[in-house]
Amino acid sequence: MLHYIDTDIVFQELPDEVTLAVNLSGCPCRCPGCHSTHLWREGGEVLDGETVDCMLSRQKQEVTCLSLMGGDAQPQEVNSLAQWVRQRHPKLHIAWWSGRSLLSPQVSLSNFDYIKLGPYLKHLGPLKSRTTNQRLYRVVDGTLHDITSRFWR
Ligand code: SF4
Repeated sequence: MLHYIDTDIVFQELPDEVTLAVNLSGCPCRCPGCHSTHLWREGGEVLDGETVDCMLSRQKQEVTCLSLMGGDAQPQEVNSLAQWVRQRHPKLHIAWWSGRSLLSPQVSLSNFDYIKLGPYLKHLGPLKSRTTNQRLYRVVDGTLHDITSRFWR
């Protein structure tokens, strides 16, 4: 079962979106220079479909995207939750923020509109850095389109 530590409304993680970012616990990636080591620990609150419904209903502004930040220890659970949200909120965009270099085969692209891949390597910088190793993809017709350069304009 997925668990989360906290949430935030963010405007810059995904271009042109008002994003509800949900920070999942139990990150197994151990990126050197990790900026969020508090997400390494297990625990937090249960994250399931009802939790997402509750989070969305509490927002005062319209949220256009849900971003699941992490969950690399349980990609199948991330996929199942995204599928559930997709069916219940068909107009809501869904993103997955993975710290892995390769997309898990347990994830179906049809459940996502955005996929971010790549560990955080401090010397290469985050997505807004032109030297970054990380990539943000828009899912279009079941294929990944690299839109990382949107952060560099
Ligand atoms: S993916 Fe990397 S940067 Fe993100 S929380 Fe996990 S270890 Fe830290």
